[in-house]
Amino acid sequence: MPEPVLLAVDDDLDALGRIEHELRQRYGGYYRVACEDSPEAGLRTLQDLMAADQEVAVVLADQWMPGMTGVEFLTRARHLYPDAKRALLFERGNRTTREPILQAMALGQIDSYVPKPERPPDEGFHSEIAHFLEEWTRDYRPASVAVCIVGDPWSARSYELRDVLSRSGIPHAFSAADSKEGRELLARVDKTSAQLPVVTVFDRLVLVDPDNAEIIDAFEMISPFGLNTLSDVRDFDLVIIGAGPAGLAAAVYGASEGLRTVVVERETFGGQAGTSSLIRNYLGFSRGISGSELAWQAYQQAWLFGASFRLARHTTALRHRPEPLVVSLSDGTEVAGRAVIVATGASYRRLGVPSLEALQGAGVFYGAAVVQAQGMMGQEVYVVGGGNSAGQAARHLSKHARRVTLLVLGKSLAAHMSQYLIEEIEATENIRVRLNTRVIDGGGQGRLEHLVLKDRASGLTETVPAAALFVLIGARPHTEWLPEEVTRDERGYIITGSDLLRDGMPPEGWPLERPPMLLETSVPGVFAAGDVRCGSVKRVASAVGEGAIAIQMVHEHLN
Ligand SMILES: Cc1cc2nc3c(=O)[nH]c(=O)nc-3n(C[C@H](O)[C@H](O)[C@H](O)COP(=O)(O)OP(=O)(O)OC[C@H]3O[C@@H](n4cnc5c(N)ncnc54)[C@H](O)[C@@H]3O)c2cc1C
Repeated sequence: MPEPVLLAVDDDLDALGRIEHELRQRYGGYYRVACEDSPEAGLRTLQDLMAADQEVAVVLADQWMPGMTGVEFLTRARHLYPDAKRALLFERGNRTTREPILQAMALGQIDSYVPKPERPPDEGFHSEIAHFLEEWTRDYRPASVAVCIVGDPWSARSYELRDVLSRSGIPHAFSAADSKEGRELLARVDKTSAQLPVVTVFDRLVLVDPDNAEIIDAFEMISPFGLNTLSDVRDFDLVIIGAGPAGLAAAVYGASEGLRTVVVERETFGGQAGTSSLIRNYLGFSRGISGSELAWQAYQQAWLFGASFRLARHTTALRHRPEPLVVSLSDGTEVAGRAVIVATGASYRRLGVPSLEALQGAGVFYGAAVVQAQGMMGQEVYVVGGGNSAGQAARHLSKHARRVTLLVLGKSLAAHMSQYLIEEIEATENIRVRLNTRVIDGGGQGRLEHLVLKDRASGLTETVPAAALFVLIGARPHTEWLPEEVTRDERGYIITGSDLLRDGMPPEGWPLERPPMLLETSVPGVFAAGDVRCGSVKRVASAVGEGAIAIQMVHEHLN
């Protein structure tokens, strides 16, 4: 296999010479280093590499180059090589790159920014490059392959399998059934393309059309560093349901503070955060951190403190009488605990437009309007949704964007938005509202550049320029499996603590002298943390905070 390419582009020849020297000295044995002195030459090189079927791992570019800025160049590079890590080069002490970095990170045009190397060896430069290469090789050139999949590259199940394995940190390879490798593997394990997907685990076990739990369990059985999911132990101090940021934080604190802890998760660790390409506002990560990296680190941390995991199984019921609390799992097993933390999160409703799904993080965002707002300076921004969250997002974005257009499917805002917000929107000069409008398509070169809107009344479609689209069309909490004694609001979010009190009195059926504690539900010993909780702030840091606080409450309950 030819070496993957590291490409750097800078019109400052001294700087380019230093970058080339550092890259060749440190990585030349395993990677091909290409350096160009103009963005045009850089794009030609990328096109040639594509034509030669060569992999590109990292693309670096200076911002201030004649003819095209570094951000424009890196945006085009994403179009050619969507999987390559893209970073803007900056000179230490030069503040002119700050604004472009802020905006490009918000719009998903770059992954990060890297200081240009000074005196060799420049370890500050290398720590960034090494980090990119670590992430890239984990996804595209794993040192060893534990799981091989042969499938139809276009089927939803193939995509889901690869996604779950990537997020679980299981090194895997995928071959199309009609490729040479795919045909060879099928013949070797004596299977046909009528039985797809076929999965081999460590070349020892062959599974035909397995579910996620079968693959994860097989990996666990064979690998000495498995996912710690198989165990006969049934009784725990604490059962945590959901391994998103809230559940993982609870697992880290619970297990490290001596509670025998198990985490039940229907997919794999990370939750919604695990699907985010870059979390930019989590404390301590100035360049942002990918959701999968954060999830992987948190999972390992919980694992090292001794938490057990039951991955790829969902909960189907919770029994709270008689004690202890018993949780039923989709594989037919049960786990029991003296306390339970429900951290099952919520799912954002999707637009269901494939061209826009492909641009998630590169101009298309679910929810995260506040985080991205500053990066929208001077941009044409769209918000989809007719409820209060969409209205608030539009108001917030209007402080930075040139213009915000609120796209509403219904005939009026009044149906789902508070009057005060409608008045604020009407009074804001750079917000306009388009009623009766559906987003039907969109696209751009490596980032969102246009949307196609359809007027439901006239049936007419219109293509409009757009730098960002924020989708806020509702979310659904994962609470349908809970018993009715766990009180929820009209949308299904779990009510906790003092919100359960009516005229200062605990809810009906509450059996204890004391009122429900902070984060405690209407069933004693059952707590809720993170997005699933009514009134929670939908952020990674707040979910983590609630997971940690819940452990304090669990100790108090158990004592
Ligand atoms: C694309 C995207 C980008 C985001 N970016 C940011 C950002 O940059 N900054 C920020 O602060 N926030 C961001 N958010 C919001 C943030 O990710 C969430 O607020 C956070 O993940 C909530 O954590 P949680 O643990 O409460 O729930 P979740 O992350 O939703 O995790 C819940 C977990 O429970 C599991 N589960 C559900 N039902 C069951 C069941 N019955 N049995 C077992 N398991 C179950 C789910 O599979 C999931 O893994 C983003 C969200 C999305 C979708």
